[in-house]
Amino acid sequence: MENSIETNKNKEVIIEVNDVKKVYKIGNEAVKALDGVSFTINKGDFCCLLGTSGSGKSTLLNIMAGIEKATSGEIRIKNQVITKMGENQLAKFRQKYLGFVFQAYNLINSLNAIENVEMPMIFKEVPKSKRVKKAKELLITVGLKERMTHKPTQMSGGQQQRVGIARAFVSDPEVVFADEPTGNLDSKTSHEIMTIIKKMAEEKNQTIVMVTHDPTMAKYADKIIEVHDGKIIKMYDGGNKNE
Ligand code: ADP
Ligand code: MG
Repeated sequence: MENSIETNKNKEVIIEVNDVKKVYKIGNEAVKALDGVSFTINKGDFCCLLGTSGSGKSTLLNIMAGIEKATSGEIRIKNQVITKMGENQLAKFRQKYLGFVFQAYNLINSLNAIENVEMPMIFKEVPKSKRVKKAKELLITVGLKERMTHKPTQMSGGQQQRVGIARAFVSDPEVVFADEPTGNLDSKTSHEIMTIIKKMAEEKNQTIVMVTHDPTMAKYADKIIEVHDGKIIKMYDGGNKNE
């Protein structure tokens, strides 16, 4: 499985979403969060799920990332049907191929920046010296050379999200999922964060799936998928490829 990595950058589909539905049941009430969603994402694309609050974006992202179960339908990533995987298989798949960036950073407050970035590599049993080396490299890439031994509470929101990005990318995931990564940040910092994510993904032809309610952030994407009331209402190319 590790051999023969094809670098057909152009049209290789990496994620397939097939007629995914999600119904939340609360008591007698059913909320249709996703109502039959289908699309594909090509390897190396920066894809944005755009929509207002409550439209179903996070539900869709979480199902695509194997964090939540679909009520029906299928998700394939790298041609593997993740909607059929058991928890153990899914956990291994996530570790190997996926990275995550969260709106609230989700860093461990008792650990410094290097230690936070090391976390995914601990699960992968990478030796300590290699972990530290890689974590430092990534922190330098995201512009935190001077903050590597700081703890989250000693950093600004933008700096914490840089740590979050370093952690997401440190194990060279093929796909990085990000749910409102700039949702807690001011406009200037948001643009800095988007630029970092985009640049990092482009370097290794990684695929990004980002959720946002903000059309300004969606402009960083190659492909924009608009979600409304659990349905896709529009799909088009993003306009800011060179910014
Ligand atoms: P978005 O991320 O676009 O704001 P969500 O995917 O979080 O939207 O939510 C879509 C719909 O599903 C909303 O109506 C929301 O209230 C509902 N929903 C989300 N998560 C749950 C849950 N765990 N239980 C019940 N309803 C939920
Ligand atoms: Mg959401």
